[in-house]
Amino acid sequence: MSTTASPSGPRRLVHVRTGTFRKAYHPNPACPSLNGKPETYSGQEAITEAQAQRLGLTECGNCPPAPAQPAETEFATAPLYEIAYDYRANARPFTVSVAGPGRHDGEPPALFVVEAHKTEEAWAKVLAWYMVEHETVDAIVVAGESFQGVPAGRAWFWLDLRPEYVRREALDDLADQAAELIGAFEEETGPLLGEEGEPLPQEQSTYETALGDAAFSAWPLVLELAGNDGRD
Ligand SMILES: [Zn+2]
Repeated sequence: MSTTASPSGPRRLVHVRTGTFRKAYHPNPACPSLNGKPETYSGQEAITEAQAQRLGLTECGNCPPAPAQPAETEFATAPLYEIAYDYRANARPFTVSVAGPGRHDGEPPALFVVEAHKTEEAWAKVLAWYMVEHETVDAIVVAGESFQGVPAGRAWFWLDLRPEYVRREALDDLADQAAELIGAFEEETGPLLGEEGEPLPQEQSTYETALGDAAFSAWPLVLELAGNDGRD
């Protein structure tokens, strides 16, 4: 499936400016005419060509053709990686070697360690982290230098991503606990509120006590949250 080479016809997706400053629709979402005037540009959206024509828009004559990406043509009918299925119920450490854009200049791949239940999960976690951290999609796993376990010995330099994933899980837990606290507070104080959501005058002090109690129970969460800020 390719979105850059969608067939022509009323159902193909085209791209239009949001708002009223638009006369044309564009087959290429990167067309300079779409976002060329910053003073009137407030974003763009995709609609079908039929919808665009119903809006009275006409096809842009200046859209540059959108070329297929190398990865799209190379892997159109094959998976990007062939990874042996090695799931086990217990998570274990994996070392994953990633070659980023630096490989074009001969930079060696970088090694990362994560905890996972199978090789594919480990690669996905490392690639996802790498791509976001370096703001690139030009990153691949070097299978021959990736393995189960942790690199041993001094000759290796590697980055341990396990604490980062532990931290994210802790933050998820904290958010769940905070949502529970708020749910309980709202259940408790709901009957004290009027139609506008303000405490009823005669319930004001009961409401303030409940709020103070809730804030007090939330303080340990705040401390734990601060302890998970990701700085050492
Ligand atoms: Zn265009």
